[in-house]
Amino acid sequence: MLIEAAGTRLLVDAGLPLATLQRQLARAHLTVQPNAIIVTHAHGDHCRHAAELSEHFQAPLYVSEATRRSVRLGGRRAPRIFGPRTPFAIGDLTVTALTVPHDAPQVSLRFDHDGKSAALATDLGEVPPELIEHFAGCENLFIESNHDSDMLWAGPYPYHLKRRVAGDHGHLSNAQTHGLLRSLDRGVRTVVLMHLSQTNNTPELARASAVEALCDHPATLLLASQFGVTTVGADAPKPPQLELFPR
Ligand SMILES: [Zn+2]
Ligand SMILES: [Zn+2]
Repeated sequence: MLIEAAGTRLLVDAGLPLATLQRQLARAHLTVQPNAIIVTHAHGDHCRHAAELSEHFQAPLYVSEATRRSVRLGGRRAPRIFGPRTPFAIGDLTVTALTVPHDAPQVSLRFDHDGKSAALATDLGEVPPELIEHFAGCENLFIESNHDSDMLWAGPYPYHLKRRVAGDHGHLSNAQTHGLLRSLDRGVRTVVLMHLSQTNNTPELARASAVEALCDHPATLLLASQFGVTTVGADAPKPPQLELFPR
């Protein structure tokens, strides 16, 4: 995810290689070019290309102390360390991290600039009570809706992996995300569903569940695709519409 405010552009997570990122963003007439890269946790789909991207863009890497201990990110420069709950500045953005339960030390990130705010919460097994407060006053929320429980348990994953995904240190199901969406305050303008499983979910199921949760809420609902670009914000260019899971 790219977050941009004033003169600062921040890349959040680095699971895609440089060429893929550049190709996808170019289709939406965007460039990557971050001032900094922040990695939420030590899973490959979030950190695999952190060193490559950091070197290429000469952009410092930010990680939590727990993530630094969990994984060898590589790269020539030591990462900068942030702590939970204490806001810190990256250029024009103020970033606040909140620890959330996952099977690697994980954080939800909140970004504030000049009265505007956004927050990201993916890769969490359950919703900690503090998350609602962490989201308070946020206009734009990027929230995991990882799996449909019935699809997960009937699906092809081995049993241990099903238990992991469904567990309280795994990922949010559509039903759990439904519960979270029900608790949002009225100031939220945009909700983007993130991190949908290609195996254990469908865009239709995730969307239907979220639509029901937001039935009397004025927020716009979007679904993010790993194969294309979703833009949010007044000045953001509108990318071409892409299929969520191209066949
Ligand atoms: Zn993930
Ligand atoms: Zn993860």
